[in-house]
Amino acid sequence: MDQEARPLRIEEEEMGGALTPAEEKAIKEALTGGVASCPRCGARLRTTPISPRPDTAYVRKRALLECDGCGLRAALDTG
Ligand SMILES: [Zn+2]
Repeated sequence: MDQEARPLRIEEEEMGGALTPAEEKAIKEALTGGVASCPRCGARLRTTPISPRPDTAYVRKRALLECDGCGLRAALDTG
């Protein structure tokens, strides 16, 4: 009965190695244009905003990126 939306939890260790710095840069640049595509397979990335939590003040605005083409998942700072 408790249906409140819970923030996404990202395992930092798991996510940390998902993207190379070059891939991160490519995605960030694409995101500023509105739509990001996967640096690996070129499919459109789904982006899910990750809400900052009050108890993790160091977490800035972030987004979870998911690729339906190759299964890439990564979290990126977007703010
Ligand atoms: Zn992909």
